[in-house]
Amino acid sequence: MTHHLPTTRPASRTRWLVSLLLLLLLAGVWPASANWSVTKIGGRDYVSDENVKDFYRFERFVSSGGDRLFKHPTLIMRWKSGSQSIYINNILFSLSFPIAEQSGHAYISTIDLAKLVDPVLRPSYIKKPIKFNTVIIDPGHGDHDSGAKGVFGWEKNYTLDLSMRLKRELEERGFKTQMTRTTDVFLSLGQRVEFANRHSDAIFISIHFNSSGSRSATGIETYALAPQGTSSTDGSGAWSSFLNGNVRDAENIALATAVHAHVMHELKATDRGIKRARFNVLRGINKPAILFEGGFITNYAEGKKIHTEEYRNELADAIANAVVKFQKAVGR
Ligand SMILES: [Zn+2]
Repeated sequence: MTHHLPTTRPASRTRWLVSLLLLLLLAGVWPASANWSVTKIGGRDYVSDENVKDFYRFERFVSSGGDRLFKHPTLIMRWKSGSQSIYINNILFSLSFPIAEQSGHAYISTIDLAKLVDPVLRPSYIKKPIKFNTVIIDPGHGDHDSGAKGVFGWEKNYTLDLSMRLKRELEERGFKTQMTRTTDVFLSLGQRVEFANRHSDAIFISIHFNSSGSRSATGIETYALAPQGTSSTDGSGAWSSFLNGNVRDAENIALATAVHAHVMHELKATDRGIKRARFNVLRGINKPAILFEGGFITNYAEGKKIHTEEYRNELADAIANAVVKFQKAVGR
């Protein structure tokens, strides 16, 4: 499997300059300046911390024990040797493979570089990004599929309510919307995928709320489809690594980043990270797609917040703002 490494582009493409709180992309003022030097570690392709620093022209690079810190005026990236997650502007991202240590250097896999770091740092470099004016909103569950039972209510009702609020917020911002359901009906995952694939010029956002046997679990998670050749964040099923990613890998992670970052920033929620999965609902979709988990309804305090209209309005507002930023960031 060849994973193409990020390449440079003519510096003239500076039309998008971004305001992203986190996604900061500055690609135009931040030209790549080095080539990639690929090293095999355990049979897998990796690139070194120094190489990443040079390529993206980070101004400061601090190496201390297993910790690496890359600094640009608007962006800080942190790695830790052996860890399977990294931080970019304090947002937690799950990696497909752990950071490897060799000869005093920390290495990141070329898959994580190409499928996560590059699209997050430079979404404007995504090749042939989708032009979209429509957002397909997918309220999770419905009818006899109630989803999780929360302290104050069922998941299926919260997902539909938040989705209807998101629809209004997006339409106010000039987007068209399509809903997989607008009432309490059952839809299979296949029907949701089929619905999504019928609409062109669109992105797809599936809305869920979380549950845990541990009543103390809280926080927001955002899922993007795991790229080809990798396993899901929970490590489930080595078999899954043989499945395809999707042609929208780069946009998926950029969209997940925009949504997650906006919600973190605007709601000050607990950060459970941007994760990878091969949920059926994401796998078959031929457009940028994410699955958003808006908090734990099984936790008393978080469930109580989610039960209020104000909180659901804030969530809808943050997600809609993120869609606007994503659209700008990919250059449309
Ligand atoms: Zn759910």
